[in-house]
Amino acid sequence: MLNLQFEPVFDIKKIEGRAPNMWRYREALPIQHDENILSFQEGFTPLIPLLFSGKEVLLKQDHLFPTGSYKDRGASVMISKVREWGLNKVVEDSSGNAGSSVAAYCAKGDIDCQIYCPDSTSSGKLVQIEMYGAVLNKIPGTREDTSIAVLKAAEKTFYASHIWNPFFFQGTKTFAFEVCEQLGWAAPDTVVLPAGNGTLILGAAIGFKELAESGVIEKIPQFIAVQAENCAPIYQAYVRKKGLNSRFQGEKTLAEGIAISKPARGEQILQVVHESQGEVITVSEEEIRQSLLSLSSKGYFIEPTSAAVTAGIDKYIQGLNKNEVIVSVITGHGLKASGKIREIQKLY
Ligand SMILES: *Cc1c(COP(=O)(O)O)cnc(C)c1O
Repeated sequence: MLNLQFEPVFDIKKIEGRAPNMWRYREALPIQHDENILSFQEGFTPLIPLLFSGKEVLLKQDHLFPTGSYKDRGASVMISKVREWGLNKVVEDSSGNAGSSVAAYCAKGDIDCQIYCPDSTSSGKLVQIEMYGAVLNKIPGTREDTSIAVLKAAEKTFYASHIWNPFFFQGTKTFAFEVCEQLGWAAPDTVVLPAGNGTLILGAAIGFKELAESGVIEKIPQFIAVQAENCAPIYQAYVRKKGLNSRFQGEKTLAEGIAISKPARGEQILQVVHESQGEVITVSEEEIRQSLLSLSSKGYFIEPTSAAVTAGIDKYIQGLNKNEVIVSVITGHGLKASGKIREIQKLY
C-alpha cells in the first residue's frame, strides 16, 4: 500500500507565511499532534539553475539536508509517526543514507534504533549512523542479504522501513510541494529522478498528484527514472514491456544508493513512468564518474549515487529539441562517500 486515507489541505497564504522548511505544508502531512513532530527544520532546499550541454536544468539541492541526503524528508514524517504511535524502538535496513537519517531522527526523539547495512557501505555513512547512537549491524554480501537479515529482527521490533512504510513517502512527497511552490505554484514539465527503490520518485508522484487534485497545479510532470546500467531491473522490464524479473541480480555499481536488484515497488515506479509518458534511462559507470567530476568542478561535491542522476540529466538532454522546464535533484552529499570518491579521483 502506498496511499493513506488522508485529505491534504493547501492554504497557500498560510504556507507562504511560514518558516522555510518542509513542515510549512503542515496540513498536508499526516501527523495528528504537533508535539509529536520530530524536526530539525529541514527542507525547502534551494532550487538552482545549472547548465547541462547548454540547457538549463533546475537542481534541488537535497544534499543540504541535516544528514546530507533527501532521506530526511521521509524520516522526519515516519519517525514522528513512530513517536505518535508511542513506540520506543525500531529497526531499519538501508544502503546507508536512509539508515543515517532514521538514526538521526530516532536520536532526536529518544527512540532506540538498530540499523542494518551491507558491509561495503561507504564508511562515512556507517560512522554517521553510529555517532547518532544507533546500533549498527554490518551484513556481508549484497543489499538483498541485508534485507533478509533485517526481517529476522523485524519479527520482534517495529520495522521503520523507508521502502515499505507509507509514512516515509508522505515525507518525500514534500519534494514536489517545494518544487511547485518555488516555481510560483506551477509544475515543471519534466522531473529527472533516481530509481532504486523509488523512495523519491514515488513520493514526488504522490506530491504532484495531491497538488493537482487540490487544484493548485494544472498538470503532472513527465517522470524520467534513472538507473545504473549495472543494476537496472526496472529499465529491463521497461524495454521488454514485461513485469519485473524476480530473479534479477545486478552487478556492482558506484551508485550504491540505487543498487537495488529486487525493488519492492518496481511495478509502481513503472506505472508512474507510463502514466506520465516518461521514460526509464540508464547510465554507465564511466558516465557516473564523468558526471561526478564535472559537477565537482562546478562546485558541487556530490555522492556517486547522485552523480548517476546528473549523468541521467546529460543523457536525457541529448537530442531534446523542445523547450521545457526540467527539475532534477542532488540527492546526497559527497562528504558521505569521500573514500569512494578518492578512488575515482585517482583514476584520472
Ligand atoms: C536513497 C537514495 C537515492 C534513491 O534511492 P531509491 O532507492 O530510489 O529510494 C538516490 N541517491 C541517494 C544519495 C540516496 O541516498
